Amino acid sequence: MFRRNTITTSFNTLGLSAELLRAVSEQGYTVPTPIQAQAIPVVLSGRDLLAAAQTGTGKTAGFTLPLLQILNQKGAGKTVRCLILVPTRELAAQVQESVRTYGKYKPLRSITVFGGVNINPQIQDLRRGVDIVVATPGRLLDHVQQKTIDLRHVEILVLDEADRMLDMGFIHDIRRIIGLLPKQRQNLMFSATFPEEIRKLAGTFMRDPQLVEVARRNTPAELVAQVQHPVDQSRKKDLLAHLVKENNWQQVLVFTKTKRGANRLAEALEKVGIEADAIHGNKSQPQRTKVLKRFKDNELQVLVATDIAARGIDIDELPHVVNFDLPHVPEDYVHRIGRTGRAGSSGEAVSLVCFDDRPLMSAIEKLMNRKVDLRVIAGFEPGNPLHQQPREPQPQRQHRPQHSRHPQHNQRRADNKNPRHPQATQKRPQVQQQPQPQPTQRPYHAPSPGPVSRPTGTPAPAPRPKQARQVPALFSGQRRHAG
Ligand code: AMP
Repeated sequence: MFRRNTITTSFNTLGLSAELLRAVSEQGYTVPTPIQAQAIPVVLSGRDLLAAAQTGTGKTAGFTLPLLQILNQKGAGKTVRCLILVPTRELAAQVQESVRTYGKYKPLRSITVFGGVNINPQIQDLRRGVDIVVATPGRLLDHVQQKTIDLRHVEILVLDEADRMLDMGFIHDIRRIIGLLPKQRQNLMFSATFPEEIRKLAGTFMRDPQLVEVARRNTPAELVAQVQHPVDQSRKKDLLAHLVKENNWQQVLVFTKTKRGANRLAEALEKVGIEADAIHGNKSQPQRTKVLKRFKDNELQVLVATDIAARGIDIDELPHVVNFDLPHVPEDYVHRIGRTGRAGSSGEAVSLVCFDDRPLMSAIEKLMNRKVDLRVIAGFEPGNPLHQQPREPQPQRQHRPQHSRHPQHNQRRADNKNPRHPQATQKRPQVQQQPQPQPTQRPYHAPSPGPVSRPTGTPAPAPRPKQARQVPALFSGQRRHAG
């Protein structure tokens, strides 16, 4: 069976250089997280690493610190020697921030390469010479296409949040990119889950990887207080405003399903005196960065986001996450509420559940193997016929054509403006709409129509408490015990 490493209790024993230890201690970190304790020595040894770790575990420092050390041994160069692939622009920016933070006493240069922003400054940076590129796959391939990046000297490849990248349809891009790298290199892959696709991918390009796994630090059941408020769809806005004001919430991340819904909700909250803004894929990168900064700096009380845009928002101790719309895929709920309760802190996840949301909530509860506390807020009790209006019509998801082999076509998509690949939409089915009786005739606790069905090939659900760990089954016969 897969065994965990003995957890090292100090950064000093991991083999990191004095400059890196200094940068780490300036961040106030004294004890490595489990993923750091396990991954850092493996990466320093030069081996490939396959790590089961999700956001919030400290995985970024787990790969950033050792790779900075390895690259620095040869000094700064002019060629790209480390490529870090990530699913979103936000994550790219955050990973680079870590590279800068931990590498502040190292001469290595890094840049981010992602779509949605002018490509020319990236081209100029690449011309000047960089050691580390943190990229989303689409824009990286734009550079390949334009011959503005040379990947022939990459020594270390990192795939961060690999399951998410595949979920977003980047598999072909990733394969193509890997094909452009030199055969001799070190590979590191981090993934929260290990569906079949990830295992297959790892099997194609990793060499005898050492497997490490850490417990989910932000196990929702343990760290995040979860509550659902039944409410009519039409009164969700009022209830949210009421909760924010009544509880004096200061930093709330609210999830909506659509970009339009996010804008409208932010506007409605502003109208009642709550500082709010929205972040989603239709906003330009500078706009998104600005909004995010305001939120981080506590200038915005409420940030309304869609799932994709919120991916990678890394705020320590984010106290409140609100599901204004429930996600159609139960695993997304776990990702969403993982935004709070990080680094061991407790958080609160609130879901506003209208009549139509009940099957979704049932599926979430089934996935987590626990019930979410139900609390009716006085004055917002559901069932008032006046408030049982149908939801605003949801935009029909367009089935865009399959990923084309034609480079021009791929490139058009590669600007990463909407990183969700058509395949992703096919993989994430809408919940089958069950015939609904008249809302007013049904009490809130009516039996739910059951969980969301998942076709073969969709990402595996987040680990359930009772399930066996997923990593050990990855490479039978190749298993390595950490340490
Ligand atoms: P990540 O999983 O890389 O997204 O990191 C989650 C959060 O943990 C980030 O905000 C880091 O700043 C923080 N963090 C990273 N390493 C440590 C550590 N050794 N001790 C405490 N917090 C850490």
